[in-house]
Amino acid sequence: MIPTPERDAWRITRVYLVIGSLWILFSDQITEFLVADTSAFRVISITKGWVYVAVTAIVLYSLIKASLHKTAEAQKEAIKGYGELAIAHEKLAEANAKLRHLALHDSLTGLPNRIALHEELGALLSDPKAHGALLFLDVDNFKYVNDSLGHAVGDELLSNLAERLKTYLPKDWVLFRLGGDEYVLLAKDSHEAEVMAFVDALPQAMSYPFELSNTVVHISISMGITFYPAHGSDPETLLKHADTAMYRAKEQMSNSFVVFDEGMNQAIHDRLLLDQALRGALENEELSIVYQPQYDVKTATICGFEALLRWTNPKLGSVPPHRFIPLAEQSGLILSIGDWVLKNACLFLRELHEQGFSPLSMAVNVSALQLRQPDFTHRLFQILEETQLDPRFLEIEITESTFMGFDDGIKQKLKELRRRGIGIALDDFGTGYSSLSYLRQLPITTLKIDKDFIDDLDHRHTISLVAGIIDVGKVLGMHVVAEGVESHKQLELLSAHGCHRFQGYLYSRPLPPQEALDILRTNHA
Ligand code: C2E
Ligand code: MG
Ligand code: MG
Repeated sequence: MIPTPERDAWRITRVYLVIGSLWILFSDQITEFLVADTSAFRVISITKGWVYVAVTAIVLYSLIKASLHKTAEAQKEAIKGYGELAIAHEKLAEANAKLRHLALHDSLTGLPNRIALHEELGALLSDPKAHGALLFLDVDNFKYVNDSLGHAVGDELLSNLAERLKTYLPKDWVLFRLGGDEYVLLAKDSHEAEVMAFVDALPQAMSYPFELSNTVVHISISMGITFYPAHGSDPETLLKHADTAMYRAKEQMSNSFVVFDEGMNQAIHDRLLLDQALRGALENEELSIVYQPQYDVKTATICGFEALLRWTNPKLGSVPPHRFIPLAEQSGLILSIGDWVLKNACLFLRELHEQGFSPLSMAVNVSALQLRQPDFTHRLFQILEETQLDPRFLEIEITESTFMGFDDGIKQKLKELRRRGIGIALDDFGTGYSSLSYLRQLPITTLKIDKDFIDDLDHRHTISLVAGIIDVGKVLGMHVVAEGVESHKQLELLSAHGCHRFQGYLYSRPLPPQEALDILRTNHA
């Protein structure tokens, strides 16, 4: 039981009362019984009184002393406990601060994170007079850095980038890392001119390579920009709009920026509709393939076809490939669609062979995503087996972007295809990196000169360039094909420089299967 002042006092009083009462009750009777003489009785009574006082004094002294001791002990304990409590409290506050720092900062770069951005932006936007900008930054092709150089290099690059960005920040601007290769800059109290001055200077700031522990990396950045309060009055909206603008910047080219405008929301809505519709396209048999003849430049005979995908949707009408193929690549739908194209193009070619057009070849466009699938070669061989097509007549067309972040796996796959006799064409040559080193390293059999060069054959320097591409192709033992040939003059120039094949509206547009067969009959007659 916990002692209380009342309880202690009552205990002492109780002892006093009991001793006092017993003394009064029994001491006189005992004395009377023992002592007959009255004067002796008086002396004993007085002595008894003093003894009583002395005894009670001693008892009271020890009781009060014991009680006060207990109080002093309790007090000491309380003081000690309080000290411990204060230390614990301090530690708790420290741990709390650490936890909050962890929750609000990114562990890789030490920059404030998404939660911190929401908090800061929320507080900022609650003031109707606040103005400034939010810049959404994303490293171009960072995935390739990670995939080809490894995550450790990717991480090192991300923290070096954070350091470099910080050195360029105007006063009062805050840099956040949202995760991955996404950074956000909060330009508080800034006007459009200041923001644009920063944006214009950024490519220069990024033009120096990043010297990492084991390698040197060049990068560029795409940026989406929103101004507040004009483009959003709450953190979610503002960030979403900045993200939308950033995606738009990515679509343009690397190292670019885009300022958000409301029209972009409509564009996103349209894309979503398109994406939804595309998901049902295969099942609903809305896809078809047209075949564009490829001609021998010298003899003008058809030596092959390029299979080109078409999509006609009951509601959307005919949707051009440059609109739906990037979507299919993003959603991964290109994998099933690509298999379908390969299979049907192979079937059609076998049918042509059966009709007697035997040495004809078929070029099929294959997207980078398809080629990156570990089972790509296996699936392709399966299709060839199912369709009973001789692999030597199939050619896959890939674009230079397939080799961004070039990994050895793709090279091995291409070699495996070559071993089976399948041709490999490099499409749209000249529009991308056009690196001679991978032309030499990879087992490419055909070089397709991009239509842009053919369109520009009126200019002398383009003629020299095209002549150069043809020579390079020939030196490396490749077939050279020109695409998008629309005039006799272009054809003559290509012929003069020894280009092997061409395709283009001059002789034929891409045709549905029956018309392709008809033109073949006429051409080979
Ligand atoms: P590409 O492979 O470079 O195909 C050539 C494009 O040029 C085709 O456009 C073709 O119709 C067009 N073309 C050919 N000759 C001429 C000409 O003389 N003048 C003009 N103005 N255009 C000409 P299309 O069919 O719209 O295809 C566009 C792109 O879509 C293709 O470019 C290819 O990259 C992609 N694509 C088409 N089908 C497939 C497919 O089955 N799979 C994949 N992954 N991509 C495909
Ligand atoms: Mg092509
Ligand atoms: Mg092309």
